[in-house]
Amino acid sequence: TTRVEKARAAYADHDVLHDVDLDIGAGERVSVLGPSGSGKSTLLRVIAGLHPLRSGRVVIDGEDVTRRPPESRGIGLVPQEGALFPHLDVAANIGYGIRGLRLRSAHRDARVRDLADVVGLGDLVRRRPHELSGGQRQRVAVARALAHEPRLVLMDEPFSALDAGLRQQVRDDVAQILRDRGVGVALITHDQEEALSLGDRVAVLRAGRIVQVGTPRDVYTAPADAWTARFLGEAL
Ligand code: ATP
Ligand code: MG
Repeated sequence: TTRVEKARAAYADHDVLHDVDLDIGAGERVSVLGPSGSGKSTLLRVIAGLHPLRSGRVVIDGEDVTRRPPESRGIGLVPQEGALFPHLDVAANIGYGIRGLRLRSAHRDARVRDLADVVGLGDLVRRRPHELSGGQRQRVAVARALAHEPRLVLMDEPFSALDAGLRQQVRDDVAQILRDRGVGVALITHDQEEALSLGDRVAVLRAGRIVQVGTPRDVYTAPADAWTARFLGEAL
C-alpha cells in the first residue's frame, strides 16, 4: 500500500497541493481526475520523489520514503507521451532504469527481452522510437516503467496522444499486463471511459485538494458536491 499523508507541495511561493491524503492499495488501480492545473502531475511527481513535499509524508508498505530518492522507491513512472530516448533502441530504452543495478548483464538482457515480449514488441527490440507507431512507443514506456519491478506504476495521461481506436487497444493491453503482475497503478486521465474501465477507485482533485475518492460508481452516481457533478458532467 502506498499512502500519501497530508501532502503539501508548492512551486516557489505558489501552493499547489494542500494536505492531500490518498491511499493506493497493493495492486489497486486509482484514476486521478481534475481540471488542468489542479495539481495532478504534481501529485504523481511527489509520489515518485521527483518533487519535494513542504510537509506531509509518502509511506510505502509502512515505510516512510519521503526522503528517499526516486530510484529507491520501487515506483515506475510512465510520463505523458512516453518521453523515450530517441537515440536508444527499444531494448536500451526498456533497460535504461536498470542499467546501474547490480545485475549480471545476462540477467538484465533477459529481463529486457521478457518485458519486450510482454508488451508485444519482442521482434522490434532493435528499432528506435522514430521507427515505431505511437502505440508501440507507449508500450515501450510501460515496459521501461516495469523494468525494476515496481510495486506501483504512475501514469500521467499515457494514452492521450493516441487516436481513439488505438487508445482503447493499447489501454486494454496495458491494463491486462499490470493486472497480471498485480502492480498498483495511479493513472491521470481526462477520459471518463478510461477512468471507469481502469480505476478500482477514482480520486477527484480540485485546486490542490482531493474533493472525492470512491468507486467509479460512487463518484458518478453520488458526486460529493455541485462542483464535482458539473466537472464530471462537463469535462468528461
Ligand atoms: P494538466 O491537466 O494541465 O496537466 P495538472 O493537474 O497536472 O494540469 P500540475 O502540472 O500539477 O497540474 O500543475 C499544478 C499547478 O502548478 C499549476 O498552477 C501549474 O501552473 C503550476 N506548476 C506546474 N509546474 C510548475 C513549475 N515547474 N513551476 C511553477 N509552477 C508550476
Ligand atoms: Mg499534468
